[in-house]
Amino acid sequence: MKNPTACKHGAGCSCSPPETTRPPHYGDSAIPGQQPRAGIDRRKLLTGGAAAAALGGAASAQDPANTVRGDLFLEEKYWRERMRAPDDGKKFGWVVDARRCFGCHGCEVACKAENDVPLGNYIRQTIYHDYEKPNGGMARLMVPMACQHCEDAPCIKACPCGAMHKGMGGSVQVDYDICSGHGACKDACPYGAIYLDPVANQAIKCHNCTHRIEVGMEPACVSTCPSEALHFGDLNDPDSTVSRLKQRLEDEQALGQLRSEKGTRPRVYFAQSEDRPIAEWEPRVPGEGESYENEAYSVYEWKRGGAT
Ligand code: SF4
Repeated sequence: MKNPTACKHGAGCSCSPPETTRPPHYGDSAIPGQQPRAGIDRRKLLTGGAAAAALGGAASAQDPANTVRGDLFLEEKYWRERMRAPDDGKKFGWVVDARRCFGCHGCEVACKAENDVPLGNYIRQTIYHDYEKPNGGMARLMVPMACQHCEDAPCIKACPCGAMHKGMGGSVQVDYDICSGHGACKDACPYGAIYLDPVANQAIKCHNCTHRIEVGMEPACVSTCPSEALHFGDLNDPDSTVSRLKQRLEDEQALGQLRSEKGTRPRVYFAQSEDRPIAEWEPRVPGEGESYENEAYSVYEWKRGGAT
């Protein structure tokens, strides 16, 4: 599933992204005289009245119970099917051993090469957390970060054109024949795991390197990581590496998840050390409406020390 880019062959070319699939933004129906664009009916969600009705059943503001962007969610009937994973018996998940990562960025580079990620954008990024050591001096913790492949994915609930869905093994994916670059998924993602491609104007995120998994390979980042910090596999298979590692870390009480208070039930588990719990570096991870950015690697962060 390569990152799609617009062709230069003109409007009639079949490889151009479909012009007619871009829906109005949520506020569009409030613009006097504004007409919904052609092609929007395909999902029966996005014409002004339908969009209002679809959103009418959702929370009108941030959901105080779990702090996700409930105000962006469509009624359940519009995303129920898309939230359901194919019945393939697999449950793909990750264990990220932050204790092993030494910040080589190999996973990021591999991901960029594999998925044609443009400069300045990231499907995955290595998060830094600088902290003062108890005996003086500074140290840096690195954590490889990407989509959490949430069981209860806010991006799917918010996607108005029906592009965000569950694929093989429950991987959260984007259908590029449908995605219109609306951006609601990015606004709803509590982990800043989506960016909008500046050329194709479509949502881009980790898709578990589905094209590699389908032919029995590992995601590009996993194959590349020299410190074996990244583990991917079938959590339904008790003998898979990822299942055994998850169990071991659970037994050691060293397993944690990111922003579990959001209620998204991520499929990514982190190994955390006792002295550097997830809560300490969690503020470094982008949130709703954000994406990974170059500034995360500012050399001045270190000088500030323990920046969050
Ligand atoms: Fe969707 Fe963000 Fe969850 Fe990934 S981390 S499934 S993009 S809400």
